[in-house]
Amino acid sequence: MPKARETVLEIDLNALEHNYRYLRSKVDQGVKLMAVVKAFGYGSDVTGIAKKLTELGADYLAVAYTSEGVALRKAGIELPILVLHPQSYNFQELIENCLEPSLYSEFVLKEFINTAEELKQKDYPVHIKFNTGLNRLGFSENETDIVRDLLTGTKAVKAASFFSHLAASEDWREREFTLGQIHSFKRIALKLFDELGYRPLLHICNTSGIINYPEAAFDMVRTGIGLYGFGNEKLQDEKLKPIGTLKTIISQIHTLKKGESVGYNRAFIASKPSKTATLPIGHADGINRQYGNGRAGVIVNGKYAPIIGNVCMDMLMIDITGIDCKEGDEVIIFGGPQHATDFAAKGNTISYELITGISQRVKRVLVGE
Ligand SMILES: *Cc1c(COP(=O)(O)O)cnc(C)c1O
Repeated sequence: MPKARETVLEIDLNALEHNYRYLRSKVDQGVKLMAVVKAFGYGSDVTGIAKKLTELGADYLAVAYTSEGVALRKAGIELPILVLHPQSYNFQELIENCLEPSLYSEFVLKEFINTAEELKQKDYPVHIKFNTGLNRLGFSENETDIVRDLLTGTKAVKAASFFSHLAASEDWREREFTLGQIHSFKRIALKLFDELGYRPLLHICNTSGIINYPEAAFDMVRTGIGLYGFGNEKLQDEKLKPIGTLKTIISQIHTLKKGESVGYNRAFIASKPSKTATLPIGHADGINRQYGNGRAGVIVNGKYAPIIGNVCMDMLMIDITGIDCKEGDEVIIFGGPQHATDFAAKGNTISYELITGISQRVKRVLVGE
């Protein structure tokens, strides 16, 4: 791989392919795969990722908001796209872009039907979301009559799927709760199949659902974090390959005498003669202040160098005392020798937040095409 000459997030499409095949292998052949590419493909490069996933044979994409789906259409992506959390304000734009809404309450289902009827749609595909315990979005089990009446009362829309979302699929201590969610989802689906006289696709598993409850894959699984290389547990992390490596370079090196300080508020004071390096990446790029003051470090020529002092908006400083390096050398923030899960833990967070937080200022570079 080429050496970094500025701050870049390298996205390895071969790693994406590996993760895709691994997750596919966990469920039966006929099960469809919905690739979740919300939030710029979990902070990667959504267009590059979506093109590769199309090539690999993904059946569906999912985004959170309508604008994300519109951007994919503008980039020429033709796969069906589920919008997980559309606002009724966006319904017309959503239909104009052939995006498929998740409808999760009486209000949004009615609103969508109204829009679809006004736009003279027939059997427009919609996805009905049920709340089985996450208590975030979704019709509850005792609202199935509302769903039935609204769906049978119109020709403008047709349910393409019923789905629900697991609250703790990565947590074995919550196994009973998760099985309860799966059972409740099954009861809802069977009741509605009967009443509607047709059978939309069923899906409930996210990445950890696929890994821990593959028997609940139903017709489709929705995977996000796994595609990007994270399994929410050590054993699975070892099977997957993180697709992103965040790299930067050394801008400048300073030699400090004992007692000299580094950065704002003089938060670091050298306890001995030291060498420090300044890197062109800061909290505006997604490396938050929690990583500063020695809590996390980076990799310089194979050696661990702690982040010292307060992380600035556009820069941070590291202690390179005893490390053989020079200005312009490459530095790895996470990826490769430093797993992003471990880096995230040092900032008191999880992989999801770290990778989606890498700001759009950081250049994305695709490798392995
Ligand atoms: C984000 C999201 C997913 C993907 O979850 P991962 O844990 O990243 O696999 C699946 N379903 C819904 C409803 C989501 O919001």
